[in-house]
Amino acid sequence: MKEISTPSRTKEILQKYDFFFKKSFGQNFLIDTNILENIVGYADFTDETCAIEIGPGIGALTEQLAKRAKKVLAFEIDNRLIPILQDTLSPYSNITIVNEDVLKADVQKEIDTHLPNEKDIMVVANLPYYVTTPIIMKLLTEGLPIRGIVCMLQKEVADRISAKPGTKDYGSLSIAIQFYTHASTVMTVPRTVFMPQPNVDSAVIKLVKRETPAAQVENEEFFFEVVRASFAQRRKTINNNLLHNLPSLKKNKELLEKCFQQSNIEGTRRGETLSIEEFGTLSNVLYAHLF
Ligand code: SAM
Repeated sequence: MKEISTPSRTKEILQKYDFFFKKSFGQNFLIDTNILENIVGYADFTDETCAIEIGPGIGALTEQLAKRAKKVLAFEIDNRLIPILQDTLSPYSNITIVNEDVLKADVQKEIDTHLPNEKDIMVVANLPYYVTTPIIMKLLTEGLPIRGIVCMLQKEVADRISAKPGTKDYGSLSIAIQFYTHASTVMTVPRTVFMPQPNVDSAVIKLVKRETPAAQVENEEFFFEVVRASFAQRRKTINNNLLHNLPSLKKNKELLEKCFQQSNIEGTRRGETLSIEEFGTLSNVLYAHLF
């Protein structure tokens, strides 16, 4: 039998089940086996690696994962796809499909049930583009026992996630993700390898979880508040942005100036020039004065 990801087999499956794509679920299926193999390659599997997939669709990536991973756990929101997956993935015995919205699912509980005592778990996915950031943030902030994430998403979002300080794409999203992971864009992907073709370009990113966050912060929530406030208006200095967008500061100019001095950071700089460590230092000094 041909692989699910070949264009002819994909068409055959869609016809057999009279399947129509739901835009609201971000359904763009991959029809290029080489690209799928490359994606899986970036996850650095060993014989002991298990995979979690978000959105298996008709199983194109799931099949490639099942061939290389010890076990695969996949979350699919669309119940129309469940009988299709049972059919297309029937040759593989190491796959569990959970019919749930991953954003609402208790992922830790599913790991405990289906991947108990597993030591090496990677998330590998071609994400639904309408919810890429919430899904990635959920996976990174719930303290799940995963080594990292390799996923396809919009190229523009990939560029922002892996951007370094001093570049135009660097902002609060870069910091939110790089706080927890080492992030890199590993591959760009043309529209032509999807069915239907999306109207944006795509890229694959690799996120490897850090052992400890990129900065030691007193209070994570406040750190991210400082970061977001610093980027509220990109053309403005951090002095201006924090004065107007950090409510707990209560527009206290003198205190802010003192905090810049203590952190050894010029208030005339723009947010995009600060490293994660510098944001950590600044937020810790502010936190000590404000709370
Ligand atoms: N993995 C398949 C592939 O590469 O061909 C399909 C990828 S498609 C871009 C995204 C998949 O995610 C679809 O199957 C869609 O139904 C599913 N999906 C969308 N939102 C979801 C959610 N919140 N939770 C779980 N699955 C979701």
